This record gives sequence, structure tokens and C-alpha cells, in this order.
Amino acid sequence: MTDSLKSSIEDILHQATGEKVSVELGISLSGGCINNATSVKTSLGETLFLKYNENAEPFMFRAEANGLEELSKAETLRIPRVYGYSDKDSEDAPFILMEYIASGPKGKGFYEAFGRGFAEMHRVTKSQYGFSEDNYIGSTPQINGWMDNWTDFFREKRLGYQISLAQKSGLWDSQADRWWEVLSSRLEEFIGTPHEPPSLLHGDLWSGNYMTGPEGEPCIIDPAVYYGSREADLAMTEVFGSFDSRFYDAYRESYPIEPDYKDRSEIYKLYHLMNHLNLFGRSYEGSVKALLKRFGS
Ligand code: ADP
Repeated sequence: MTDSLKSSIEDILHQATGEKVSVELGISLSGGCINNATSVKTSLGETLFLKYNENAEPFMFRAEANGLEELSKAETLRIPRVYGYSDKDSEDAPFILMEYIASGPKGKGFYEAFGRGFAEMHRVTKSQYGFSEDNYIGSTPQINGWMDNWTDFFREKRLGYQISLAQKSGLWDSQADRWWEVLSSRLEEFIGTPHEPPSLLHGDLWSGNYMTGPEGEPCIIDPAVYYGSREADLAMTEVFGSFDSRFYDAYRESYPIEPDYKDRSEIYKLYHLMNHLNLFGRSYEGSVKALLKRFGS
């Protein structure tokens, strides 16, 4: 840790606690896809969690902090408290400093509590689709703003934006374009207009983005928050193999899902597969094209 990073962290903690705090770097943690992660010990005896990245995208940690704050307002699932962050404008490597979640074993009823909490989170709503600022899905920008129509939002700000990135990097051919033209014109028919207001979404909930807290409770991290159809959030949990069935049973019991969710979920998965195409390249081309063909021919 550079002296400047150390003193930025100490300032943040001084402001948060009103006490003079000094910090030391703890152990390095692995598991994240993008950033360096480490624990930090404070002179107050606390352990904190620090993520930093010299090459962070602009305002990446601000977006993460604001996303976590939005989720914590729901007061359903556990969200780590954010102490502060710094973006590219300072001389430090950009970083985010938050509460350290000391993982325990999964408690009895972990998946039930997780499913229920996730459903309750989706009961937090707004009147429009989107979010007050753009954020990131992985390290890809996720474009937000506010829109009244879900299909238009998903076409433009989700699938359309990923396509524009794929085109720029030569990952999009004329066949994909033809399928997209059909899919795009039929999108309203496929995903329609939800019969409920836009829900607060985590946006990127896969198995790497939840943890077990010290009491065995579910805790969610690293979001790509926006307000949208909750089916999009559920679909993400199924992209790389589904969660435990108790999670879905508890979810449905708390907040039932429409029977034709399964058809729409494939369109929502397409967004994440396109994002993986853009992040990791051609190994995702086959799965993206299979879905494009299915809905666009
Ligand atoms: P990245 O932004 O690089 O994907 P993550 O936010 O996924 O990083 O965090 C990397 C790893 O660090 C996670 O897989 C998890 O094991 C651990 N982690 C994340 N947040 C915390 C936290 N608040 N407390 C303790 N460990 C955490």
C-alpha cells in the first residue's frame, strides 16, 4: 500500500468514526474477476475490505458504492457497508473500502433466506426503468438513464449497447445482424410489458457475487444495479448453472413468478452472454448466436 493510499484510507475512517485511525495491509484475497482485493487492519481492531485497481474504468468504484447503497436501502439481504472510495481523479490507485464480511459456513435455511430476501428486494420499486447513473457489468459500461418502456429500455440500453461494443471489436457479423434485426422487431412480443412496476435489481447476481456472512447469512456484493423486470435478475442466477432449488422455491413463495418466465429468461440471459462475448471474446460466440438464431429466425 502506498503512503498516499494509506493516508486516504485513514482520512476516510477518521471521518466515519471521528477517531484517529491508522491502518495496515492484511492478507490478499482472491476470487474477484477484475480488481485486487485485500483485507485491511485498523488500529481500532477492525478488519476492512479494500478493492483497488490502477486501471479501473472511470467512476467504477463510485458506481459500485452507489449500487451497494441503493441495495442496502431495501433492508432485505445483507450488503457490506461502504466507508469510502476514490476514483481516477486522485493520485492513488482507485479503490473502494468497505466492511469486511468474515465468511462463516452457510446457516440452516441459508437458501430459503436468500430467496426470500431477493424477492423482498424486488418489491422495492420505482416508476421508471433504469438508474440515476451509468454503472458497470463486470468492467463493461452499463448504460442507464430513465425510460418508461421496458422493451425499449432492454433493446436500447442492454442488448443494443452490447451489440455496439461487439461491432466495434469485430465480434459481430452480418448473420448475427440479420437475426438481431428480427429479434429486435419482435422484442415486445417476446418480453412484453411487465404487469408490475420496475423492481430494484442487483443486476449481476451469479455465484461469485454472493457470500455467506459470519452468522451463516446470505450477503450480496458487486452489483450492477438498476430498476427493471425482476425476471432479468432471476435469469442471471441461471446463466452459469442455477442456484440451489431452495432459493427459487423460497423466492416463488414470497413473490410468485409468471408461468411463461422461462421463455423470457432466455432473452435476459442473452444480455449477459453478449457481455461475456465482449469481455472474454469468441468462446461465447456460439452461445450468443444460438440464442440470436432461436429468437431471430
Ligand atoms: P471484483 O470486482 O474483482 O469481481 P469482488 O467484489 O467479486 O471483486 O470481490 C473479490 C472477492 O473478494 C470475492 O469473491 C469475495 O470472496 C471477496 N469479497 C468481496 N467483498 C468482500 C467483503 N466485503 N468482505 C470480505 N470479502 C469480500
